[in-house]
Amino acid sequence: MKKYDVAIIGGGAAGLNCAMELANSKLSVCLVEKEVKNSNDRTWCFWEKGMGKFDHILFNSWDRINFYAKSEMERLDLQGYTYKMIRSSDFYSYAHSIIDTASNIDCVKAEVTDIVESANEILIVTEAGEIVADKLLNSVIFDKPNLDKYNYLVQHFGGWFIETEEDVFDEETCTFMDFRIDQKDDTRFFYVLPLDKRRALVEIAVFSNDVMNMADYDLAIQSYLDTYIQPGKFKIEEKEIGQIPMTDYPFHKANTARHVRIGTAGGWVKSSSGYAFKRITDRAEILVQGLLDNREVNTTSSGFHRWMDSVMLKVISKNYTGGKEIFESMFSKREPSAIFKFLDEENNLLEDIRMMYSAPILPFSRAAIF
Ligand SMILES: Cc1cc2nc3c(=O)[nH]c(=O)nc-3n(C[C@H](O)[C@H](O)[C@H](O)COP(=O)(O)OP(=O)(O)OC[C@H]3O[C@@H](n4cnc5c(N)ncnc54)[C@H](O)[C@@H]3O)c2cc1C
Repeated sequence: MKKYDVAIIGGGAAGLNCAMELANSKLSVCLVEKEVKNSNDRTWCFWEKGMGKFDHILFNSWDRINFYAKSEMERLDLQGYTYKMIRSSDFYSYAHSIIDTASNIDCVKAEVTDIVESANEILIVTEAGEIVADKLLNSVIFDKPNLDKYNYLVQHFGGWFIETEEDVFDEETCTFMDFRIDQKDDTRFFYVLPLDKRRALVEIAVFSNDVMNMADYDLAIQSYLDTYIQPGKFKIEEKEIGQIPMTDYPFHKANTARHVRIGTAGGWVKSSSGYAFKRITDRAEILVQGLLDNREVNTTSSGFHRWMDSVMLKVISKNYTGGKEIFESMFSKREPSAIFKFLDEENNLLEDIRMMYSAPILPFSRAAIF
């Protein structure tokens, strides 16, 4: 049986980013994915300074955002950052255009059912046979983590891609967060991502373990459109629904020298915000560079940043105060570029402390101490 240098389980955002980084390298790679990935099963948004490696497949991007706080709208310049949007279908086809032509990568369509790690190799059991590799990058959670001791909150969302009959949207500016809606004792906001004057993704995001269904989202979106957008006649072109687990569970602790968890399974989702796509692309690059140089690299946030994330997640999940109050307070006191830098964990200690002080201090102190 052929032994691969690297096996990757899951051909989603993390697996494909790692596979692209490994394409045409000296390492032999096997990518195992159970589905044919060609549909638009999610729309990724992220911010980035300047040019990025996926700019040629962006669906849209904005240099200005609207933020609605206390029913006032603020139009904010992103000062060098751009808010970018990629449709997963474009990302999958671009990634496969690289991976499928790389001479060192085999793609296997099969469901992985078991992983057996031994001293010399790692065995990946699939319905279609077994694969042997020296190292495994795994983006699938096989054993349900015990979350009893950890903070956990589901970010769930539903949205409509709509097309209006009249010009309605300002295509230069997206609505990043609109907190004017009833918070219903959790954290919920709308975002509006215009593609042009007549087309936009209008989506509600809710941070709550009471997950809603599409019919609930439909009602909320219709009400938001009637109240705040008044789009006139429109048609729904597509609907999106999804969930992102937000938790401070230490997924990385299960890693071994052979078996490294990546993506959501590796704890690469920012636990306090649910943003993951940019972190996944950055961390895949670092991880693969380590493999190519044959050195161990760390793709986990620092202990301090994980602690800060835990505190913020605890504040929101235990409802010490709502996400609305936290983001309203931050956006009223700090520039978006400073907030992005903070969420990207690129601040120094002093800047991080300043940022924490721009959020409501009592709930944060309570979460940090108790
Ligand atoms: C609808 C939605 C929208 C999102 N939007 C954003 C956003 O705007 N910005 C952002 O930063 N983050 C966003 N996220 C969060 C995050 O970026 C995504 O969840 C991202 O896809 C996570 O990448 P991943 O590789 O960990 O998981 P996935 O992309 O889900 O990939 C896992 C892959 O593993 C495969 N698989 C599963 N089980 C097996 C098995 N047993 N054998 C073989 N293959 C298997 C699956 O088919 C899948 O292709 C969103 C998430 C969702 C669900």
